[in-house]
Amino acid sequence: MDASQWHVFHRQLTQLSQRQRLISIDLLRDDPSRNTGIAVIEQAAQAHLQCPACSSTHFHRHGHANQLQRYRCVPCGKTFNALSGTPLAHLRHKERWLAYAGCMLNSFSVRKAAQQIQIHRNTSFRWRHRFLSLARTDRPHCLHGIAEADEMYVPESQKGSRHLTRPARRRGGKARQRGISNDHICVLVARDRTGQTIDFVTGPGQLTKAKLHSCLPPVIDRDILLVSDGHPAYPVFAREAGILHEAVNLRAGIRVRGAIHVQNVNAYHSRLRQWLRPFHGVATRYLPNYLGWRWILDAKRILSPESLLRATLGTFPHLSVT
Ligand SMILES: [Zn+2]
Repeated sequence: MDASQWHVFHRQLTQLSQRQRLISIDLLRDDPSRNTGIAVIEQAAQAHLQCPACSSTHFHRHGHANQLQRYRCVPCGKTFNALSGTPLAHLRHKERWLAYAGCMLNSFSVRKAAQQIQIHRNTSFRWRHRFLSLARTDRPHCLHGIAEADEMYVPESQKGSRHLTRPARRRGGKARQRGISNDHICVLVARDRTGQTIDFVTGPGQLTKAKLHSCLPPVIDRDILLVSDGHPAYPVFAREAGILHEAVNLRAGIRVRGAIHVQNVNAYHSRLRQWLRPFHGVATRYLPNYLGWRWILDAKRILSPESLLRATLGTFPHLSVT
């Protein structure tokens, strides 16, 4: 635009209605990320593009809709796009997703993220959990060598539920009974010495050998050395599963015997606890999402908003061989 055109344009700007003004602001602010965001979505989907109705990979391009390439399935005739069948299908404001992914990498609260990118806080909350539903599955397949396992407990929370099955607690609050009861949800974390970490929400109440049997065997090497604290469930589980096990007797003040310690998993727990604190108690049904979010931050595999947006669509950074 030359100087004289700009002069006219500039004068016209003052005549914009409130609505036109807001649209213009949006356009100016989002233009670069709008294009990159769409490009990331289209590119991430390419690897596993298929018809969500019949799973066919025989399809043709079929125009554009909602800023995205549309495809038409040859066998069944249904149309779809890069987001069909993903957690982000049918969500609006695609041009703000990259910025939102940035907020997640900064662990922003629902409210802060909403303010930052100018969406309603209910939208911010919905996006948070849509973003995490697939991204949280970026986990190591198996632990090797020495694996430390330890459990931690968080208060059970029905935050956000319409029908409480018990009296409400304020802001996370304290459980009704002392010690570990069904008011506590057990989170089991296992971490090997390469830093690969897997966690499980084992449900209300104390950790048991049955819970260990259902969680650990699918994700640990048969010749692993399992290290735990003195909780009685571990040795029983290990014996029954035929796995080598060593315990550190923390009560007797013995924290380390050579390579036998649980300091890595304990450090993971403490980072997790500290990170959870500003959320003021998370709803138990969303706990796996928060654990996945914490792992995303801790593992440092997903470092950019682009890479988080790709993970949200199920395309993860290449796994390092473990
Ligand atoms: Zn089809």
